[in-house]
Amino acid sequence: MKIGLEIHTQLLTQTKMFCGCRNEFVKEPNTLTCETCLGFPGSKPRVNKKAIEYGMKVALALNCKFPKETFFSRKSYFYPDLSKNYQITQYEIPLAQNGWLSIGEKRIEIRRINLEEDPARLVHAGDYVLVDYNRSGTPLCEIVTEPSFVDVKEARIFLQKLSSILQYLGVFDPNIEGSMRVDANISVKKERVEVKNISGFKDVEKALNYEIVRQNYMLRHGRKIVRETRGWDPVSGTTKTLRTKEEEEDYGYIMEPDLVKITIDAKKTDELKKLMPEFAEQKVRRYVKETKLQQEIAEAIASEPDLADMFEKVIKKTDVQLAAKWFAGEIKKTLNYNTLRISESELTEEGLVKLLKMVQEKAITERSAEMLLREMVLRPTDPEKAVGTRKRIYDETVLEQSVKQTIAENASAVVDYKSGKQEAFNFLVGQVMRKTEGRGDPATIRKVMMKYLG
Ligand code: ZN
Ligand code: MN
Repeated sequence: MKIGLEIHTQLLTQTKMFCGCRNEFVKEPNTLTCETCLGFPGSKPRVNKKAIEYGMKVALALNCKFPKETFFSRKSYFYPDLSKNYQITQYEIPLAQNGWLSIGEKRIEIRRINLEEDPARLVHAGDYVLVDYNRSGTPLCEIVTEPSFVDVKEARIFLQKLSSILQYLGVFDPNIEGSMRVDANISVKKERVEVKNISGFKDVEKALNYEIVRQNYMLRHGRKIVRETRGWDPVSGTTKTLRTKEEEEDYGYIMEPDLVKITIDAKKTDELKKLMPEFAEQKVRRYVKETKLQQEIAEAIASEPDLADMFEKVIKKTDVQLAAKWFAGEIKKTLNYNTLRISESELTEEGLVKLLKMVQEKAITERSAEMLLREMVLRPTDPEKAVGTRKRIYDETVLEQSVKQTIAENASAVVDYKSGKQEAFNFLVGQVMRKTEGRGDPATIRKVMMKYLG
């Protein structure tokens, strides 16, 4: 089996690819448009320099080679999401080509990297299809791999690594819906089937798995697989035929006459090379070496640049191992739960340092710290002030009340414990923790519990 991927990522430029309209997602449709991105006859495109620079950074990170000169072409197609009836893209000479990205021991070959414009967004609303041209003209970086993948797992690891690299370059935000869309080529035997427009990592995996099962089923039943383009339907979790017998040539590419050629010289590429950040892989190596972190914990922290950035600030003032445990665990979990990046949340370096110090000094339980963290993510919170009623309870007489109540309410667990089941004891301790809203000091609770259960 062979799998190749074609990945479209939206670049985080301030303005669109060929006009000055703002490049961002706003709720109100058709508000960020002009003659150019609406495709009015006579309107003239001009290239966004920043988009070229971002594309070149991606190319450098993926070890690609640049041509001396490149240009844009018109790809003809007729559809409401593209009002000009052609997309400005690259075909004859891509921005860069012949690169690679390693996943473990293996190298995934990158065939080419193109810059192009995103079409408008179609919204299917009952009997109507609505068109939002705000997305029209968003800069896209198209990354095409060779069919280097032999299974779905390799494709998943590659996409995760690519996403991390693009985030470290500061050119891509995975939290924007549809910011990464994938077309996959899969051939189980000889014929190549293309599955178009898969949004998000999880769906890439689902679509590939579906297509592998479908093609194997066809082959087992003596049916032929035809070369075709299929669409992924995330609702039914299946692929459906879109069109057959389509070749690149059918798009009738012609050179875009309204744009000048772009020359790429060594001076420019050398400048950009100097701007390359430390990527996740290098960070992980450094963390493991300098701070003796476990590989998996280092990987969890380094996977997101702003998380790693905050981590590196916080560990200057707290215990590294404790901070690492919280960053890879609870902090990441709480942010994910709220679909926020750390830079979008209300977490501050100062707040996190204070929180971790309180945990370290056992002023609060881990449970209380988790609850404080949830507040700190959503609104500006000084943990030292907010801790108020959450202070850790060491007072045995206070805890005795909850222990007595718990024992009275859980007679069967008490019986279980007395017949030798240790997990019943842990269960009872957990119940006391709940009664104290997570504030009871676990060691003291155990001590008091032992006194009553003998
Ligand atoms: Zn525009
Ligand atoms: Mn494309």
